[in-house]
Amino acid sequence: MSDTCIFCEISKGRIPSIRIYEDADFISFLDINPVARGHLLIITREHYLSTPEVPDEILAKALPLAKRLAAAAVLGVGADGFNILINNGEKAGQAVGHWHLHVIPRKDRSELPLREGGPADLTKLPFTAADIRNNL
Ligand code: 5GP
Ligand code: ZN
Repeated sequence: MSDTCIFCEISKGRIPSIRIYEDADFISFLDINPVARGHLLIITREHYLSTPEVPDEILAKALPLAKRLAAAAVLGVGADGFNILINNGEKAGQAVGHWHLHVIPRKDRSELPLREGGPADLTKLPFTAADIRNNL
C-alpha cells in the first residue's frame, strides 16, 4: 500500500471508479481517459510498481483474466479485436506507478492512439460498464 498512489486509493474504494470486476488479487475498472469505448484497466489489489515486481503467481492469473475481460468488452461494445498493453517504467509511458494492464477494444485498424484519449463522458461510463459486465 502506498499512501500517495491513486490506484491504491481506487483499490481501497477511497477514490471512486466504475468497476467491472474484482477478486482477491485484481480489480478491473474503466479508464477515465479511454482511447476507445470499453477501455478498461486491470490492477493488482496490492501495490506493485511494474511487472518485474509482481509475483509470478499473480502474473500467471493476469492473462487469463485479461482474456476473459477482453472477450466481455469486445462483445459489450461491439468491437472486432482488442489490444492488451502493459507500460513498464516512465520511459515506456507508465504514468501511474502501480501495476496495471490495459484492455482496449478495437473497431478499426488505426494506430493505437495511446495518448489521445480525452476525458470520459462520466454519464456514459456506467452504461459501458454494464455492457461489459453483462457479457462476463
Ligand atoms: P499508464 O500510462 O500508466 O499505463 O496508464 C495509466 C492509465 O490510468 C491512463 O490510461 C489513465 O487514463 C488512467 N487513469 C489515471 N488516473 C485514473 C483515475 O483516477 N481513474 C481511472 N479510472 N483511470 C485513471
Ligand atoms: Zn498503489
